Amino acid sequence: MKRIFLVLILAFLLPSCVSRKVEKPPAKKPLNILFIMTDDHAEQAISSYGSKLIDTPNIDRIANEGIRFTNSFVTNSICAPSRAVMLTGKYSHLNGLRDNRDRFDGSQMTFPKLLQKAGYFTAVVGKWHLKTQPTGFDYWNVLIGQGPYYNPTMIANGDTLSHTGYTTDVITDITLDALKNRDPDKPFCMLYHHKAPHRNWMPAPRHFAMYKDEDLPLPETFFDNYESREAAAHQDMRIADMYMSMDMKLMPEDFGEETGTGGHGTFDAVKSWIATYNRLTPEQKAAWDAHYDPIRKDFREKQPTGKDLAVWKYQRYMKDYLRSVAAVDENIGRVLAYLDENGLAENTLVIYTSDQGFYLGEHGWYDKRFMYEESLGMPLVMRLPGMIKSGEVSDAMVLNLDFAPTFLDIAGVEIPEEMQGNSLRPLFDNQTPDSWRKSMYYHYYEYPHGWHSVKQHYGVRTYQHKLIYYYNDNIWELFDLLQDPAELNNIYGVAGNEAITAELKEELLQLRELYNEVESSGP
Ligand code: CA
Repeated sequence: MKRIFLVLILAFLLPSCVSRKVEKPPAKKPLNILFIMTDDHAEQAISSYGSKLIDTPNIDRIANEGIRFTNSFVTNSICAPSRAVMLTGKYSHLNGLRDNRDRFDGSQMTFPKLLQKAGYFTAVVGKWHLKTQPTGFDYWNVLIGQGPYYNPTMIANGDTLSHTGYTTDVITDITLDALKNRDPDKPFCMLYHHKAPHRNWMPAPRHFAMYKDEDLPLPETFFDNYESREAAAHQDMRIADMYMSMDMKLMPEDFGEETGTGGHGTFDAVKSWIATYNRLTPEQKAAWDAHYDPIRKDFREKQPTGKDLAVWKYQRYMKDYLRSVAAVDENIGRVLAYLDENGLAENTLVIYTSDQGFYLGEHGWYDKRFMYEESLGMPLVMRLPGMIKSGEVSDAMVLNLDFAPTFLDIAGVEIPEEMQGNSLRPLFDNQTPDSWRKSMYYHYYEYPHGWHSVKQHYGVRTYQHKLIYYYNDNIWELFDLLQDPAELNNIYGVAGNEAITAELKEELLQLRELYNEVESSGP
C-alpha cells in the first residue's frame, strides 16, 4: 500500500520537478508584467471572492477580464517571508528569510534580476520590507520598513525623499510616473506594492463616510473557544485584545491605562500612536479629528467591557480596514486606466495578490501566521488578453512559490532548476493538467520572537484535508475541510481517521524531502 502511494506521489511530483522547458509565448510584442500586491488583504474583503463587506470594482475587473484562483496559498503566512518566496521561487529555508527578523540576501537569484538581464525595465514602488536594499531593479522607490499611512519617507534608488499625502495615493502617483518615464523600447516588469491594508488601518479622509451609520456582521466563529485546538488557543491576536490606542485610535484621556495586549509584550502602543498622530499635517489632523472625535466621545459615554468591548473593537477594526482597502481599489483603477489609455492592456500581464490572507474576526482574530484557511489563502487574480480567457475561475492549487516561474515563463526566459514553484501558464486555459500538484507544504517559523505568540508549525493541505504539526509542543491537528470548512473540529487521534492520518503523514514527509527540508524537526 505504502509503495503504491509513493509511486502515485512521484507520478504527480516528478513532472513539476523536471519539466522546466519554456515555450516561447505566442504574442508578437514582448509581454509586460504589472505585479500589484497589497499587504494583508484577505479574500473575505474582495467582492469577486464573494465578500459582503465591500465592493472592489477594480480588483473585480481584473478577475472578470481574466482568471480568479480559489485555492491560492502562501507557504509561510507572514509579510517579509512571503515576499522573499515570491522573488526567489524558493521556500523560506532555502531563500534564508524564515521570519520578519531576517534580512533578505540580495545577492541571490531573483526573477527581477533574470528579467532585467533579459532586457526588461524592472521597477519596484511601495512596500519592500526586506531590510536590505532592492537588487535587480532599474528603478526602485520604496518605503522604509513598514512605512506609515500618511506622509511617507521613501528611498528612490538610494535617495531619501519625503512625501506629503496618503501613502496609497503617493505610491500610485510614483508608479504612474515611473511607467510614463520608462524606456518605451523595453518591456517592463513593474512591482506596484502597497502598504495597505496592513495594521494599523488608517483610512484616507475621503473614505471616512463609509460604514458611518451601519454595523458590520460578526463572523460566526468570532467567539470561538478553541475547543479541541490547544495550539490555536495559544496566541495573542484576538480582536478583544487590540490596543485601545494604536488600533482603536483612542487617546489616553479616553481610556486611561492601555489595556490591550496587542500581540507584543514590550511595545509602547500609546507612545507609538501619539507619534503617528502627530505626523499628520494640520489639514490632515482637522479631517481626522472631525471623524474620530465623535467616536472617542461615544466610547467615553458607553465604556464597553467584556464581550461588548470585543464587538465594539471589531466594528472599529473592520471599518478602518475596509476603508483602507477602498483606497487601494480606487488607485488600482487609476493604473488600469493608464494601461487602457496607452495601449498597454493587450500585452500586459496584470496580477493582483496580497502577501497573505488575514483574519477579519474569524476565530476572534486579526493578523495571520496560522495555517488555517483565512491566512493560508491569498487572493490571486490575473489578466492577460489572448492567453487568459475572461471570466475564468480555477480551483487548481497554486502558491506564491509559483509567481517567479510564471513571470519568467510569460517573458520567455528560462526558469532556473533551483526554483521550486511551477509556472501557472498551463492553467491559463482553465484546464488543470493531471500532473499538477494535489497537495501543498507550509512552514511558519516566527516563535518565540516577534509578534502574536503563534507557535512554529508545518503541515500539508490537500483538497480535502489539512494536517498541521506544532513541533515545539508535539501537537497535531487534522481537519476535514469538506465536513468542517471553518476548522473548528480537530479530528487528529479520533477513531476512524487512522488511515487518512497515516497517508497525510507520509505525504508530509515526501514534501519535506522534495523541498529539502528534511533536516529540521520532523514528525
Ligand atoms: Ca502581510
